[in-house]
Amino acid sequence: MTRVAIVGVAGRMGRTLVSALEQDAGATLAGGIVEPGSSLAGADIGELAGVGKRGVTAVDSLAAIVDDFDVLIDFTAPQVTLANLAFCAEHGKRMVIGTTGMSDDELAQLDSYRDRVPMVFAPNMSVGVNLTLKLLETAARALGDEGYDIEVIEAHHRHKVDAPSGTAIKMGEVVAESLNRTLKEHGVFERVGQCGPRTDKEIGFATVRAGDIVGEHTVMFATEGERIEITHKASSRMTFAKGAVRAARWVAGQECGRYDMQDVLALNG
Ligand code: NAD
Repeated sequence: MTRVAIVGVAGRMGRTLVSALEQDAGATLAGGIVEPGSSLAGADIGELAGVGKRGVTAVDSLAAIVDDFDVLIDFTAPQVTLANLAFCAEHGKRMVIGTTGMSDDELAQLDSYRDRVPMVFAPNMSVGVNLTLKLLETAARALGDEGYDIEVIEAHHRHKVDAPSGTAIKMGEVVAESLNRTLKEHGVFERVGQCGPRTDKEIGFATVRAGDIVGEHTVMFATEGERIEITHKASSRMTFAKGAVRAARWVAGQECGRYDMQDVLALNG
């Protein structure tokens, strides 16, 4: 049985992860961490998540539960995740990281732990999205440089703080790599005013933020006479949470390294 602690347990994903762990036969809820100084420290994690008292109390530091868990699931913010990686490296723990919105510098820092921590890092933990990435690779390879304009459109709830979503960027990267392009050179993240017509090889991104949308992504391949759209719609955070718990069980048996959901789902070749 994999003992899992959840950092950011009072957050939207944190609470959903508690429910997902409840339903999983191979992993158990070993602890939950809230922000330092939070009034929720001391609360029962089950009650926090709305699944009823579970006898596990939220704490506001990892050190307080260091002996209780094997894998830490972290859906918080970049700097918090990096601090938790340092802790896990020091104490021989494993991590599942869902945090998005990392800068290039933060990504490099995360990567520097690959020799010290077995970690799964993915901007989207849903099985459906990871299958969609495979479909995008196939579509991009088949369509090649035959005059298809590529656009990525994503929509999320009004509270999301980063844009475009980590999933949209990942989708763009998969398509770009399949076409020997890079998002640094070909990604277009803003169009406003007299920005001129689109260029052939650019990959455009558009963002919607509204209401309670859990997460929707479409990649459009459009040319004269036809348009192909590959769409994934998440209707509940449970899809991300279940994927993260599956990743926690998987990473419990892995050597140090940086893995993604394609590895967990054995979609990497
Ligand atoms: P949220 O704001 O609801 O939750 C974040 C929680 O982290 C908050 O409760 C906050 O108090 C807590 N926190 C902040 N600093 C902390 C600290 N030092 N110690 C402990 N807890 C701390 O946000 P959310 O909607 O749950 O999303 C969190 C992150 O996960 C975002 O980056 C989001 O984009 C990402 N996300 C990823 C996936 C995926 O599948 N990979 C899916 C959904 C969301």
